[in-house]
Amino acid sequence: MIRFEQVSKVYPDGTTAVDDLSFSVAEGELVTLVGPSGCGKTTTMMMVNRLIEPTSGRIMVDGEDISRIDPVKLRRRIGYVIQQVGLFPHRTVLDNTATVPSLVGWKRARAHARAAELLDLVGLDPKVYGSRYPAQLSGGQRQRVGVARALAADPPVLLMDEPFGAVDPVVRERLQDEFLRLQATVRKTVLLVTHDIEEAVRMGDRIAVYGQGRIEQFDTPGAVLGAPATDYVARFVGADRGLKRLSVTAIEPDDLAQPPVARRDEPAAAAAARLRDQGARWAVVLGASGELHGWVSAEALSTGAGGTVSGLACRMEAWVPLGAPLKQAFSEMLQHDAGWVAVLDGTRFAGVLTPAKLHEALRRSVDADARGVARGQVDFDSVSDA
Ligand code: ADP
Ligand code: MG
Repeated sequence: MIRFEQVSKVYPDGTTAVDDLSFSVAEGELVTLVGPSGCGKTTTMMMVNRLIEPTSGRIMVDGEDISRIDPVKLRRRIGYVIQQVGLFPHRTVLDNTATVPSLVGWKRARAHARAAELLDLVGLDPKVYGSRYPAQLSGGQRQRVGVARALAADPPVLLMDEPFGAVDPVVRERLQDEFLRLQATVRKTVLLVTHDIEEAVRMGDRIAVYGQGRIEQFDTPGAVLGAPATDYVARFVGADRGLKRLSVTAIEPDDLAQPPVARRDEPAAAAAARLRDQGARWAVVLGASGELHGWVSAEALSTGAGGTVSGLACRMEAWVPLGAPLKQAFSEMLQHDAGWVAVLDGTRFAGVLTPAKLHEALRRSVDADARGVARGQVDFDSVSDA
């Protein structure tokens, strides 16, 4: 959808901001550009909507060389969200959101209806906020209006330059989550600039780690954290990259252990005998269609002989959905002081994650992400003490 072909930008004063950059972003993909201040991220982004012209090279958007597209027309196809938001102070939130539809000649009523729909989508009730002015909003709310405005004309491409930079960490995390939920439905092609590696790995399908004017590594967050391509990248992502991997590695069915299972309507004595044979101290209790009911100890089963398993079962406190990040499972374990956490596929019980399995899952994901990287280059020390 967006392709950079050997693009360089040298400013008139001789500063090389971007040096021979080639990469592409697939349709519906969210790519984060991350790197320290001054490394050329904003320059890269502003060349996509022609607010800055490259010195050499070519940028394609949807198969078209953008130097041949009228900049004004190009910008209507590209939503732009910046840290300073840039809302018009004397226009209402509704009018601000309707800016681009109005510019492209939509009737006022239609533009307003669209703006209201978008405000709703970013979590602002248009009835409450539509008639306010930007100064009457919190920083986080202004940022949401910025996103709504960028999406109003339904552009296929979205450029976001430090979009959540101006708010406190708690609000920032909420805005990030909201945007990811939104992106799951609107599936725009997004370039997001940030200097924050946490934000980059959290938001990006892939991340481009910038050095001075160049991309040092362009890969999935898991691969960048698991197998940094250069010393520079390793330093930039930080010594705690093993911990960061927990946030970007999803729980997969193969990661799970299968503990003994008891049916909820089964006689307790039968379940007790089975557990004794297996040498197991507890079992997961499931309903008729495999839904999680709780867990039961071997001890409770043997003292409660006569009844069914159901009455002896305890509630399962710690559980996470399949596909959730390993970090969530780990956090559930810590919170409930549990040695394992149940994993559900919808309502069905899929297995349990134990600390040993969690460790295996991290290794599995390093291997998967490091395809093409020699094994010796993969640094396991950051994910384990093995
Ligand atoms: P980032 O967004 O990663 O912080 P920028 O793309 O804004 O970096 O800037 C990259 C480099 O280009 C920096 O060294 C910056 O000082 C320089 N630069 C940016 N804009 C201009 C300009 N208009 N004229 C000269 N140098 C510039
Ligand atoms: Mg910048």
